[in-house]
Amino acid sequence: MRMTDVKQHDIVAAIRSLGVAPGDLLIAHTSLSSFGHVAGGAKTVAEALIESVSPEGTAFVPTFNYGSLPYDPNTTPSLTGAVTDAFWRLPGAVRSAHPTHAFAGFGPAAAEVLEGHDKVPTLGRGSPLWRLWERNAWVLLAGCDHRANSMIHVAEEAAEAPYLDRTRVAHVLGSGNKVTDVTVRRPGCSSAFNIVDGPLRRANNVREGKAGRSRLTLVRSAAVVAVAMELLRRDSAALLCIRPDCDRCAWARQRISERNSERSSSRSD
Ligand SMILES: [Zn+2]
Repeated sequence: MRMTDVKQHDIVAAIRSLGVAPGDLLIAHTSLSSFGHVAGGAKTVAEALIESVSPEGTAFVPTFNYGSLPYDPNTTPSLTGAVTDAFWRLPGAVRSAHPTHAFAGFGPAAAEVLEGHDKVPTLGRGSPLWRLWERNAWVLLAGCDHRANSMIHVAEEAAEAPYLDRTRVAHVLGSGNKVTDVTVRRPGCSSAFNIVDGPLRRANNVREGKAGRSRLTLVRSAAVVAVAMELLRRDSAALLCIRPDCDRCAWARQRISERNSERSSSRSD
């Protein structure tokens, strides 16, 4: 270990200095490389997230695989960063059953929040992220911005945005290596999600710090969802990007205009 290495207690102290306390619920989005060199690597950051809310608190991370492989919660790698992949592998971690957008949690609330994820819309009502919003969990961004903040998708669900009905077929790996096809809701694009940053700051809802070289941003999920819902109330396309090559947002705009023309024709009936 080098003197300049970032250590677990440095990360815990930085997260706690922003206001996270033992007993809290936390959902974290992390970039391992943003920290600089961490002694023990991804596992150290995963354990620091858990320690920052311990005892009695529960930490969560996304462990999405985006349908890259038939999903088995005990073997399928997470593609949402090295920290999340180390997190779900920790003894005692729980991972949800959703085949493309599973979450992992560690702590007393993990099983309850993650339960039944394969039976509800991916990030909608009854999903782990929705339940974390209901419990006003902290959202921690470490070395990333709101484009990684999946909680904003919960606002789209709560506001019943017109473009939520996009689905895909995913694959679940069952006992005896039997693969079952299931249809799941496919979350949309998040490239435009930094639009929430200004309103959150103006309402003094953003806490910032540093752990090693990583820039930490801490917000309450209730504040994030409220801000994003207000943006959607004013403009149903507020959370869509304007990249010309973004098929998902083009499709979503199409759904919005279909919905608007359905509304105007039903008004004229
Ligand atoms: Zn887009």
